[in-house]
Amino acid sequence: MSSLADMIALARAAMDKAHAPYSRFKVGACVRAASGKLYAGCNVENAAYPQGQCAEATAIGAMVTAGDREILEVVLMGGGPKLCTPCGGCRQKLVEFAKPGTPVHLCTRKGRKRTVTLGQLTPMFFGPKNLGK
Ligand SMILES: [Zn+2]
Repeated sequence: MSSLADMIALARAAMDKAHAPYSRFKVGACVRAASGKLYAGCNVENAAYPQGQCAEATAIGAMVTAGDREILEVVLMGGGPKLCTPCGGCRQKLVEFAKPGTPVHLCTRKGRKRTVTLGQLTPMFFGPKNLGK
């Protein structure tokens, strides 16, 4: 099984490839799927700002494309000095494939790290239950 260090290394490598010419704020993410596979992604900005995509969305898209549907662990690394938390949209994207107890490791390039759960990030999230599922 892959280690957290592997996930952090993949998130860092993804962050280094980010397309962030507008904000200059690079982000990398890595998700570990129930299959054990790791999927990384970076933010992909666009001159038409709303068309940009967050790192988590890129990683989740790669995971789903490969056939995985369950996230067991998340690493998110921002290029700034402070820990980078997922934006509201990405919290919702993570909720779709992870559980409230899923660990989310917030990291900086320089090695700062804090682990929270998805449930801490998304109290009262909108989910299938809201749709009666
Ligand atoms: Zn986001």
